[in-house]
Amino acid sequence: FIFMEFKDFSLIELDEVVRSGRATYQEIYDYFRARSEKYNDTLWAYITLPESKNEISGLPVAVKDLFCEVGVRTTAASKMLENFVPPYESTVTERMKKSGFIAFGKTNLDEFAMGGSGENSAFGATKNPWDTTRIPGGSSSGSAAAVAAGLVPAALGTDTGGSIRQPASMCGVVGFKPGYGRNSRAGVIAMASSLDCPGYFTKTVRDSGWLYEATAGHDSKDATSLMEPVKLNPDIWQKTRLDGVKVGVPQEYFADGTDAGVRENIEKTIEKMRDLGAEIVDISLPHTKEGISVYYIICPAEVATNMARYDGLRFGEKVENGNDIVANRSALLGKEVQRRSLVGSFVLSAGSYEEYYQKASLVRELIRDDFRKAFEKVDVIVTPTAPTVAWKIGEKGDDPMAAYLEDVFTVPASLAGLPGLVIPVGYAASSDVEKREMPVGIQILGPVLGEEKVLEVGHILEQSLKDSLTKKPEIF
Ligand code: GLN
Repeated sequence: FIFMEFKDFSLIELDEVVRSGRATYQEIYDYFRARSEKYNDTLWAYITLPESKNEISGLPVAVKDLFCEVGVRTTAASKMLENFVPPYESTVTERMKKSGFIAFGKTNLDEFAMGGSGENSAFGATKNPWDTTRIPGGSSSGSAAAVAAGLVPAALGTDTGGSIRQPASMCGVVGFKPGYGRNSRAGVIAMASSLDCPGYFTKTVRDSGWLYEATAGHDSKDATSLMEPVKLNPDIWQKTRLDGVKVGVPQEYFADGTDAGVRENIEKTIEKMRDLGAEIVDISLPHTKEGISVYYIICPAEVATNMARYDGLRFGEKVENGNDIVANRSALLGKEVQRRSLVGSFVLSAGSYEEYYQKASLVRELIRDDFRKAFEKVDVIVTPTAPTVAWKIGEKGDDPMAAYLEDVFTVPASLAGLPGLVIPVGYAASSDVEKREMPVGIQILGPVLGEEKVLEVGHILEQSLKDSLTKKPEIF
């Protein structure tokens, strides 16, 4: 047996390694487990490390600690669920395991997926493997960091307002959020139920396609699950040109406030798409600027509803002798969770409901309509994923507004329920004094049920950029 380094390999390459007899599933599993153990003190990517196991017969995929698995502690990175061992299995993990993948540890996140930096985890912040003094993005912080650092070839995440796309961009990996209703929400601890979308972090677009075909599709346990089949046409992986593809570029996503380096990377990538034969079409999504306000009303409203069950009596931990639900919630839910629960209760209360929640729901329809009209003219839409590269841990301090504004490019597609893919396209300097070069990803959005087109375009672009993406994370 010749020792092999697997950290660079995609799922498909690892599969080939096993099929050709160059290594066993067990050796691959043990390799990634050793790496995960070695680097977890530095990166804090896992809340629960993968366990030592024998007779492994599949490839490892890490699981965000928000997916319930029978008998596996699932915390949502909250003290409230510190000892929660689910009696049931999420549909996504169940299908993934049935397809032969091995669940590999539970990854760190912002508590109950509320946040975009990983700093809101009750068990400590995940670090960015490109620079461990920086955030990896969030809320799926551990999944993104683990894939970027080569601790695992792929990971599950969830995306409610950007939680797969933004950390994928900041960690230089592929992130794929299928449209709302494609992956079942059953058994995934709920944040905002009209927005939550399970998805993937991978090394390649094709790996995301593989996991998508393994887990997505109708599930009777989720009332909002879509009926349409998810099978991908295998021909999309053979294509190398974008001839005939219409790519929309929304002017509102290129306004001031985005770092120059991020914008240059996206513009350069759009030119590359033109070289590959795409027709670039200027479009407008006029209600983009309302996205943040709408999201930060609807999301907390649904959060307030979903968090109400955690009181230490019916669900969750309690403080000592804790029959006082207010005391339990104050002690065991983090600041951001409490903030959203309060804001959400307010916007749903009599008198405020019409003024906030109802209005936000109406504007949400306008945002949906913007996309609907745009997709009459184009096949996909491309935009920056986030206005900046990864910032320093602690930089945004206790300013929730500063954090919310970072979600400006991801929340509109969430409100419209669209599929979104992020692939790495280059590097840009951070806006702080360090001017640190950090990864940048482009966001590729498709219409409802447009997953296949998004993956096809992403795959073609990925092939054409491969040779230019030569940098590696500090921890790799
Ligand atoms: N950063 C966004 C928020 O804080 C998105 C979170 C998510 O998608 N789970 O709500």
